[in-house]
Amino acid sequence: MLSGQTAVITGASRGIGKAITLTYAQNGANVALVYARNAEAAEDVRQQAEAFGVKAMAYQCNVADYQESKKVCDQIVADMDSVSILVNNAGIAKDYMLLKMSEEAFDEVIDVNLKGTFNFIKHLSPTLMKSSAGKIINLSSVSGLMGTPYQTNYSAAKAGVIAMSKTVAKELSSKNITCNVIAPGFIKTDMTSSLSLVANGYIEFAVPFRRMGTPEEVASVALFLASEMASYITGEVIRVDGGLSM
Ligand code: NAP
Repeated sequence: MLSGQTAVITGASRGIGKAITLTYAQNGANVALVYARNAEAAEDVRQQAEAFGVKAMAYQCNVADYQESKKVCDQIVADMDSVSILVNNAGIAKDYMLLKMSEEAFDEVIDVNLKGTFNFIKHLSPTLMKSSAGKIINLSSVSGLMGTPYQTNYSAAKAGVIAMSKTVAKELSSKNITCNVIAPGFIKTDMTSSLSLVANGYIEFAVPFRRMGTPEEVASVALFLASEMASYITGEVIRVDGGLSM
C-alpha cells in the first residue's frame, strides 16, 4: 500500500510509534525512526522493520529542540533521498493537579508534544512539498478534545496540535499535502502502564468497549491516513478511543 514511499515517524522506539513504524514497513514504506533516549529499543524496531525488505534508519533526536530537529531532518533527507509521510507521534505526559503543576512540567510537555510537532513539520515541509502527495499525521489525544483532570499541560498541548494541524492542512493544500490528526483514548503502552485510573476499573466504567486499545488499532488508522485511500481527507481528527469521548 505504501511501496515507494518514505515515512518519518517520531517516537518510533516504543508504543504507538513502534506499531506505526512496523505497519508502514510491512506495507512497503521505507522508514526513518526518531527516538529520544532508548537506542536499544529503537535498534530493535529498526531491525524488525528492515526484515520486511525496506530501508530502515534510526535517529536520536530531542524533537523539542529546534536546531537539533533541523540537523536530524536534514540528515534524514540526505539518507533517504525524499520523504512523503511524516508522523508526529513523540509525546510525553507529566500529570499533576493544576495547583501542584510546576512551570517545568508545563513547559516540558508543551515543548515535546506541541513544539516538537511544529519543528518536524517546519523542517520537513520543503521535502514533503516535492513529493506528489505528502501526508502529515499528528498524534493528539481525546484530552485535547475534552480536557482531562491533572493534564492542564498535556490537554493544552494536544488541543494545540489539532489547531496547528488544521492550519497546516489549509496552508499546504495547494501542494497536495494532507494533514490529519489521530486522537487516541486509553491505549496500552508505557505511557498508560502506571495510570491509577487503569488499575481502579475506570476503563470498564468509562469506555463503552470496556477495554484499552492496542497500538496496532491506532497504527491501522495511521496506515489509512498515509495511503491514497485518504487522498481527499485533510484537517480531520479521527478518534481511536473505543467510544470514550462520544
Ligand atoms: P510511549 O510508549 O511513552 O512512547 C513515547 C515515544 O516518544 C518513545 O518512542 C520515546 O522515545 C519518544 N519520545 C519521548 N520524548 C521524546 C523527545 N523529546 N524527542 C523524541 N522522542 C521522544 O508513548 P505512546 O503511548 O506510544 O504515545 C505515543 C503518542 O500518542 C504520544 O504523542 C501520546 O501523547 C499519544 N497518545 C497516547 C495515548 C495512550 O493511551 N498511550 C493516548 C492518547 C494519545 P524513547 O523510547 O527514546 O524515550
